[in-house]
Amino acid sequence: MDGHGIYMDYQASTPVDHRVIEAMTPFWRVHPGNPHATDHAFGWAAARAVEQASEQVARAIAADSDEIIFTSGATEANNLAIFGVASRAPRERRRIIISAIEHKSVIAAARAAAKRNGLRVDTVPVDKEGFVQPDAMRQRLADDVLLVSVMAVNNEIGTIQPVAELAEITHSFGALFHTDATQALTACDFDVQRMNADLASLSAHKLYGPKGIGALFIRRDVQQRVEPLIYGGGQQHGLRAGTLPVPLCIGFGTAVNLLVGPSADQERQRIQDLRDTFVNQLRKVMPPIQLNGPRTSRRHPGNANIYFPGIEADVLLASLQPHIAASTGSACTSGTIEPSHVLRAIGLSEEEANASIRFGIGRNTTHNEVTQAVEKITQSIRRQETR
Ligand code: PMP
Repeated sequence: MDGHGIYMDYQASTPVDHRVIEAMTPFWRVHPGNPHATDHAFGWAAARAVEQASEQVARAIAADSDEIIFTSGATEANNLAIFGVASRAPRERRRIIISAIEHKSVIAAARAAAKRNGLRVDTVPVDKEGFVQPDAMRQRLADDVLLVSVMAVNNEIGTIQPVAELAEITHSFGALFHTDATQALTACDFDVQRMNADLASLSAHKLYGPKGIGALFIRRDVQQRVEPLIYGGGQQHGLRAGTLPVPLCIGFGTAVNLLVGPSADQERQRIQDLRDTFVNQLRKVMPPIQLNGPRTSRRHPGNANIYFPGIEADVLLASLQPHIAASTGSACTSGTIEPSHVLRAIGLSEEEANASIRFGIGRNTTHNEVTQAVEKITQSIRRQETR
């Protein structure tokens, strides 16, 4: 891409689609109105455009536009869901349950919100493919649970959770169900009615939209149970104050709109075929490699998290610069590098986790890029081995 190498980190971020940029462009200069300015036509035009964006996001997940609260991204959406609900916890509901493979913005928010509000966080484990077993969830649930948060699609290993079933179990104990759906719309249809979610987080930059905007779906009858994180001029039904970034809202709406309907299904299939080609070609030249995560269709079509026995993932990725962008999933916590908590949770040893790389395939990936990537990775590994 643009002579900067092959981009294979689509679960970290995506390039903005050219149709998204086109839709956003007039809103930087031609339409300067504040969407909350009610006294003039510029304001009304901006408000109309934002409402349309909100409807596009809502329609994609079968919600209504007044249930979509724009945020700065999924990190803020996850924080609003968890802090928001925790701050208004009834006295008898003192526990939050999360899965072991949540994104850090759920794990850290749950811990902090629990500490601040005198609650407890329980973690439900996952199996070897990253699935939360409904029985494991049922065992942890009781009438003292406030909120359950399980991501719809995992960002490291692509596991597509049985969200509808987990939400149903959660509701049978009277608790609220939140799902981090940041990776969902590029993976599968995601419908908050069918999924039975009370709250769901989204982010534009994971679905070919701009960075700096996301949303929290909050079901209408749950909105009074959510304490805002940001107070101010009462925008977005008082749930998240601040002037809306109009061009970003337009970009988000346009990007989401491109992910619904038959063309989106075709795109997912094309991406999945490329992903399978990539894994199969790698396996042909390096038989000992293994795919971490689900082996079934319950996996994000663009995700390939691969274990390379005997290889140090960070060394391999460094040797591939600037030719291939992919990611190790390890985190830098207090100055030390820690292996991915997701790979550890599905049973990989520290060594195996440190020998694993996540490749993400997406809208702009070509067959030629996949073949070239396999060649470059193979060369780099052979060079490491002969050293
Ligand atoms: N949740 C998941 C599953 C993610 O993949 C990410 C991004 N890595 C986030 C939350 C955070 O999203 P944002 O970058 O929009 O804050």
